[in-house]
Amino acid sequence: MTPHKQRLGRLREALARDRIDAALVTHPTSIRYLTGFTGSAGLLLVLPEESHLLTDGRYREQAPLQVRDSSIHIDLPNAAQSAAQRPENGLPGLLQSLELIPAGLNIAFEADSLSVARFEQIERLFPAARWTGQSGTISGLAMRKDPAELQALRSAIRITDEAFGSFLNDIRAGAVERELAGRLSYLLRMHGAEKDSFEPIVASGWRGALPHARSTDKVLQEGDFLVLDFGAVYDGYHADMTRTVCIGSLTERHEQIYGIVLEAQLQGIAAVRAGQRTRDVDAACRDIIQAAGYGEQFVHGTGHGIGLEVHTPPRLSRESDEVLEADMVVTIEPGIYIEGWGGVRIEDDVLVLPDGSSPLNQSTKELLVLG
Ligand code: ZN
Ligand code: ZN
Repeated sequence: MTPHKQRLGRLREALARDRIDAALVTHPTSIRYLTGFTGSAGLLLVLPEESHLLTDGRYREQAPLQVRDSSIHIDLPNAAQSAAQRPENGLPGLLQSLELIPAGLNIAFEADSLSVARFEQIERLFPAARWTGQSGTISGLAMRKDPAELQALRSAIRITDEAFGSFLNDIRAGAVERELAGRLSYLLRMHGAEKDSFEPIVASGWRGALPHARSTDKVLQEGDFLVLDFGAVYDGYHADMTRTVCIGSLTERHEQIYGIVLEAQLQGIAAVRAGQRTRDVDAACRDIIQAAGYGEQFVHGTGHGIGLEVHTPPRLSRESDEVLEADMVVTIEPGIYIEGWGGVRIEDDVLVLPDGSSPLNQSTKELLVLG
């Protein structure tokens, strides 16, 4: 059975548990997960026995190459119609004309991603159906990775490690953050990435204290910590790694702060296993940082899932309430951020195993002093 057929089957089981007959899937990531289709315009109707992907003429050739387990319907302009006569309703209009939705069908829609305007249009076109908004059903299914997904993630992570290895040669006092960020993106591509997982974070000195700083024209100086947070996308799957290096020379303070974050990160990884609560993994990291007196400077959660998007469920934070399962891949990324001085974050992507975990990144976590 193909992965997509299995995923559709798991979605149907999840819907049946909620006494729902069908799903209208609208979020591009969900459609990709369930069918393999990567186009930007699509609607997927999942019925108990069959599934139907609707897209437009731009994807007439692409859709059959990518989609094996759903019927494909292409919205093609009818040459006989003038532009003024074209129906206004787009893919929902095509869905209506296919007459696939019987009266009374109980259909789930993705409440997190469907706009109010689009939902009102769908309700208008299908007045006899019963619509139920759902959140997180499909992203919940996608938490556990199947073998094809794990293979793609391992490739994305290997490319990220290799790019980091090459990038170390470019880091020196006098380099400009923005240029380094461009170089890092270039190296990811040259090592085989489709694209960046997200705009790389290259934040030096005091700017490293901003956890999501983007790169600027700031010049790297001796004594700066340099926070590098980046990742490759491979076959749609997102790697996400952070390393922090020191520029020029070390002080005791650099070593002390780095040592605390590294110890927290290792304890976090050690806490990862199937059956563990996500908040307990967060606590394993946070306790180390708190005990060292920097609890107030660890201003975010410990990690998140990765997959077809860079931030996916589960979340690992003080408030999170999920339980890890085997074959999830989550990040472990504690940090300490000291205003006006700098920040340290260390992040690995970690595979959850039945009785432990396997960090997938190979890049060194020794404190490197460069340039
Ligand atoms: Zn990251
Ligand atoms: Zn992350």
